[in-house]
Amino acid sequence: MKIAVIGAGAMGSLFGALLAESGEDVRLYDIWEEHVKAINEKGLDIELNGRTRSVSVNATTDKRQIWKTDLAIIFVKSTQTGDAARTASELMGNNGFVLTLQNGMGNADIIGEVIGPGRIIAGTTSHGATMLGPGSIRHAGTGPTVIGMWSGIQKAGIQKIADAFNKAGIITETVDDVRNVIWAKLLVNVGINAITALTGIKNGRILDLAATKELSRAAVKEAMEVARAQGVKVADNTVEHVFQVAEATSANRSSMGQDVDKKRQTEISTINGAVVKEAQKLGINVPVNQTLTALVETLQAHYK
Ligand code: NAD
Repeated sequence: MKIAVIGAGAMGSLFGALLAESGEDVRLYDIWEEHVKAINEKGLDIELNGRTRSVSVNATTDKRQIWKTDLAIIFVKSTQTGDAARTASELMGNNGFVLTLQNGMGNADIIGEVIGPGRIIAGTTSHGATMLGPGSIRHAGTGPTVIGMWSGIQKAGIQKIADAFNKAGIITETVDDVRNVIWAKLLVNVGINAITALTGIKNGRILDLAATKELSRAAVKEAMEVARAQGVKVADNTVEHVFQVAEATSANRSSMGQDVDKKRQTEISTINGAVVKEAQKLGINVPVNQTLTALVETLQAHYK
């Protein structure tokens, strides 16, 4: 399979390298020249459980070196999804698919505006990765990947992609109702990311004070109402699940927290901001998510 990864940072490099290792024809595309140069010169270094291996994979900053891909995997941050979708549309063959495993809600719709529906696959992954430097990442966690057609039915095409992922050791399941899966992950991020980003605390500290716990609970409950109004299946114990995740990742700084620490633009528009956007369409009030979104937007607009 010809595969292009658009946005080869921590996650894109990881998925691209695993697929290349298993024999797929992979091209990594990124705008970060130093990283691309390092990968081409010495391979991609992947640190896993304290051991580092080097994986040979092609990387480029020049889109013209990639063409007619069967699969374009978008792994930019959500602030860049529109640009990545335009790149994907230039690179895709006639029967190609675009896959997004980015966090949050809204990326598939942004891609759909460029590519058109019917060829978009969305999903979630429990793999985790961190950039260590140019040409070097840490594979920080493994877990299942779940994918499904964003709209339309393409059982054969999507199964071929899942098979390639499984062959590469990326344990992948296909589902018919991928929105349920994406919402379930979104609800966790809704309860943890903005609060930790705004306060500077680690995930587990959300559980220390009744005030922070109630804030998280309120944000998640609002989002659950929106999801259910859309017909999404939401478990009754979702708030407890969010608290369990905060406990299990107690010592971690959330990705949005790390973005704020490094004064980068966050993915707020596809996390709490997505809840606000979907709620508006349904005429539902979500004041807690609206406030969290406004505060993070204000913070990132005024970095010093
Ligand atoms: P990252 O910042 O490490 O990688 C993003 C890459 O995109 C960077 O290398 C950047 O140079 C590149 N880029 C930016 N603009 C571009 C453009 N216009 N065209 C091509 N490349 C461009 O981010 P990440 O941690 O790999 O996360 C990517 C996505 O995956 C996010 O949506 C994130 O929420 C999601 N995700 C991350 C993890 C994780 O553990 N890191 C886990 C699950 C999901």
